[in-house]
Amino acid sequence: METYDALLASITPAAGQNSRTILDPATGEAVGEAPVHTVEDLQAAIDAAAAAQPAWAALGHDARSAALLKAADAVERSAEELARLLSREQGKPLNGPNARFEVGACSAWLRATAGTPLEPEVVVDDGETHAELHYRPIGVVGAIGPWNWPMMITIWQIAPALRMGNAVVVKPSEYTPLSVLALISIINQELPEGLLSVVSGGRDVGEALASHDAIGKVMFTGSTATGKAIIRSSADTVKRLTLELGGNDAGIVLPDSDPKAIAEGLFWGAFINTGQTCAALKRLYVHESQYEAVCSELAAVAAAMPMGNGLDENNVLGPLQNRQQYNIVARLVDAARESGARILVGGNPDDNQPGNFYPTTLVADIDNDNPLVAEEQFGPALPIIKYSTVDEAVAKANALDVGLGASVWSSDLGAAREVAARIQAGTVWINKHGAVDPRVPFGGAKQSGYGLEFGAEGLKALGVPQVING
Ligand code: NAD
Repeated sequence: METYDALLASITPAAGQNSRTILDPATGEAVGEAPVHTVEDLQAAIDAAAAAQPAWAALGHDARSAALLKAADAVERSAEELARLLSREQGKPLNGPNARFEVGACSAWLRATAGTPLEPEVVVDDGETHAELHYRPIGVVGAIGPWNWPMMITIWQIAPALRMGNAVVVKPSEYTPLSVLALISIINQELPEGLLSVVSGGRDVGEALASHDAIGKVMFTGSTATGKAIIRSSADTVKRLTLELGGNDAGIVLPDSDPKAIAEGLFWGAFINTGQTCAALKRLYVHESQYEAVCSELAAVAAAMPMGNGLDENNVLGPLQNRQQYNIVARLVDAARESGARILVGGNPDDNQPGNFYPTTLVADIDNDNPLVAEEQFGPALPIIKYSTVDEAVAKANALDVGLGASVWSSDLGAAREVAARIQAGTVWINKHGAVDPRVPFGGAKQSGYGLEFGAEGLKALGVPQVING
């Protein structure tokens, strides 16, 4: 795509199509028009996908991988325009681990998925029995996504599905449809018509997708409440599901850590994408011997991280994507303050400025029973909880019914690994938080979901296992 305007024009709804204006969360100004698709549009997309899928499956892995590599090149050629659109629609800055980083992850994941080996496994070969495990395409896969990392999460869902020989119908969040429409229009330059499409509708379209009898699997990333609704609506057709749901990640700072050395890692673990990240650090447990030192080092890092309009290259933190999310954060921080918690930094939004900006907020002298700790807050606030013994910290980390990620911070790797093994979470990072890698499986424990993404495990999850015995 040559220019930003050309990119936007390529996804502008046709005359007569119902549409909705998408507003920039930093300014309240219009970003563009998104189509409002209906359940009838969904049916047309599923029909087209089902028609295109057999020929795609027949191409074989090498040809499909080649198409994914070309799609990665196409995304790279339009990377700056895509990042700009993402920044305007989602709010995340171009700079820092944000919009350019997210678009870069899209091409990286396409390439990694294209290169993931997938050979049939010989499970028994003893002279009498020869049994092989293969993975066959499922057919048409539905991909339903959230608004926080809309492009990257769409790629996480569609890349392994396509590589395995499936067709895909994508239902993006109603908050960030333009980013996904633009990304898919670029990828579709390299794919057969009808194989991959976007149906930009609301909850009704999501529900219809999750219950449709021609959809063999739903890849869902979003809240735990919606995940439960999808389990129910997909039950009649016994759909395969990968559910990447809500989190409320704990971090434990062990007594031997160096507060100054870990402060920046802790900050980005918590505040990446202004805290709107499923696997962001949301509860920090710090040993009493280091409590004040960690609080003040974190406050110093926070003061050096500018928040503002994402198109300004100086900013590394942006607005919250929508007012609903802003209101959740404001309510939880206000309640923490009223309960007697100490606000170290932030907590004082300027309601006179345009946009959904909520300042970086650190809250001390708080415990697990406070709603700011117990509920998924999904914004730029970090409660810091004091503990006396490691057993107490582990018990508090495990006390919630979600378990997406967690982290342990220590200068003793062996001690950190021992603590990590006791934490109920899908990933436990050591001396970092939230880092994802296309080669490393990722998925939640407890009510953070089930099924793995990425790497060979993630690829197999987009196929139907078939045993050939004989
Ligand atoms: P959400 O659950 O409100 O919406 C996600 C998607 O589901 C949207 O596209 C929405 O239109 C659709 N949807 C809503 N109701 C539906 C229904 N009944 N049936 C089918 N589809 C339906 O989530 P959100 O607010 O967009 O995203 C934030 C949430 O996503 C947070 O809880 C966050 O933790 C989670 N998340 C998880 C991961 C992960 O990898 N585990 C990654 C990112 C975000």
